[in-house]
Amino acid sequence: MSGKRKRVVGEDSDNGKKVKSNGHWQNGLLSAMEDPELIVQSNPKLVVIKDKFPKAEFHYLIIPREDINSLKAVDQSHAGLLKYMHNIAQQLVDEPRHKSRCFKMGYHAEASMARLHMHVISDDMNSPCLKTKKHWNSFTTEFLMDSKLILEDVEKHGKVKVFSTEYCKRLMDTPLKCHKCDFVPKTMPDLKKHIVKHITK
Ligand code: AMP
Ligand code: ZN
Repeated sequence: MSGKRKRVVGEDSDNGKKVKSNGHWQNGLLSAMEDPELIVQSNPKLVVIKDKFPKAEFHYLIIPREDINSLKAVDQSHAGLLKYMHNIAQQLVDEPRHKSRCFKMGYHAEASMARLHMHVISDDMNSPCLKTKKHWNSFTTEFLMDSKLILEDVEKHGKVKVFSTEYCKRLMDTPLKCHKCDFVPKTMPDLKKHIVKHITK
């Protein structure tokens, strides 16, 4: 041992890889829900926070207070809560400061962090924290499951039809492509340079 310890930073390190934080990085959102620096809105049912490692110019997480671990744990009894989360997301998107952006609202098919959370993210995908193909594909493919479709699933079938791990892996392996045009970049830096031209201020 060199005596030097690995820098502990939570879910994402500077190289985009997960780094353990006291062995509990997956619980990072539970502490984030109490972090005044991150909280955007808080009420008895849920907390809206800014994503600590935003993958676009605007990136929020809506986290229920009820201890629901993931989409797999969602059942009919959560339909009202999911609808409420969807409405809160819509109100957030409609705020004047967001008017130059389109947004996506959804849940990752296989989340890495504990406690159910909805991503509300502007579709510019322009952020220094977006570094890897995995980051890119997790927000630009079906891996981000639309909130409205999730809600319909729960209302109709009492549960979420989750993707198989195999299918999630295929989505993560999708070749890089611009989400706004036919441009096929060779590398992530090429793609990051390219997407800026789609941004209207
Ligand atoms: P996922 O579990 O894949 O749906 O994504 C988890 C999200 O949480 C990612 O967008 C991360 O950038 C974000 N994240 C990770 N750790 C924290 C933290 N401590 N506080 C706030 N957001 C975080
Ligand atoms: Zn393009």
